[in-house]
Amino acid sequence: MTDAHSSDWSYIPELANVDVNRFAIAVAGLDGQVHVAGDAARPFSIQSVSKVFTLTLALGKLGDTMWSRVGREPSGNAFNSIVQLEQEKGRPRNPFINAGAITVADLILAGHEPREAIGEIVRFVRFLADDDTIRIDERVAHSELATGDRNASLAHFMRSFGRLDNPVDHVLGVYFHHCALAVTCRQLAVAGQYLAAGGVSPKTGARVISAERARRINAVMLTCGHYDGSGEFAYRVGLPGKSGVGGAILAVAPGKASIAVWSPGLDPVGNSKLGAEALEMLTHRTGWSVFGA
Ligand code: GLU
Repeated sequence: MTDAHSSDWSYIPELANVDVNRFAIAVAGLDGQVHVAGDAARPFSIQSVSKVFTLTLALGKLGDTMWSRVGREPSGNAFNSIVQLEQEKGRPRNPFINAGAITVADLILAGHEPREAIGEIVRFVRFLADDDTIRIDERVAHSELATGDRNASLAHFMRSFGRLDNPVDHVLGVYFHHCALAVTCRQLAVAGQYLAAGGVSPKTGARVISAERARRINAVMLTCGHYDGSGEFAYRVGLPGKSGVGGAILAVAPGKASIAVWSPGLDPVGNSKLGAEALEMLTHRTGWSVFGA
């Protein structure tokens, strides 16, 4: 079931300028080797893939009590649906739909200034990617701020149920900025490696989270990472994955590799068409699907 979300992705005007024919893939193996093809050094807007990293950060800060604020069930609804939120009294179904990620931004904010929370998220993604050049594309952040009425509605709605602790404009400032991180496929694949490697970043040897938490984040990615296309992605690709409307997908082959793909042409639910196809071919050829070869 889908709510009336737009299939016209130009609702973030700055993203509509990107050539839909572009494609890139990066496979970061646990041996430290990164294999790339296509435009793998070209930065793109991470959008909702950032929700994996903010979830990781929030779990690190609050532990499992975080789950009292947001569920971990697939929504079966559009990424920006308000219908279910009303039925469930402002508690988002999972951390990957917009309402859930806005709640996670509220938890990371925790009374601090938005710029402090944004800085913390940027530092965390740089640490994961082992790359200090990663930045936020301010034009994308402001483009979304200017047109983000649907996200503002979700946030006000949750606040009306007493579900946000911080002012709506602060929470949205954090949310839009982490969605506007600009990364390359190579950076994204490396940043996601801790999820494939039991919580340890193979490049730096640093433990990011426990193996148990990595396994659980992967479970939520598998069931909820592609909005109301999550079942289809599990069926076709068979890997935990998180998509974003910038055209990126981060997929995790546990014990094997972290894979980032990017191609801005989206399907009607907001997932990269070519990206999913490439991942389907990859798992078909490698036998990496978590469901068996
Ligand atoms: N920043 C986007 C929004 O809130 C994220 C959506 C997505 O990537 O799926 O609309």
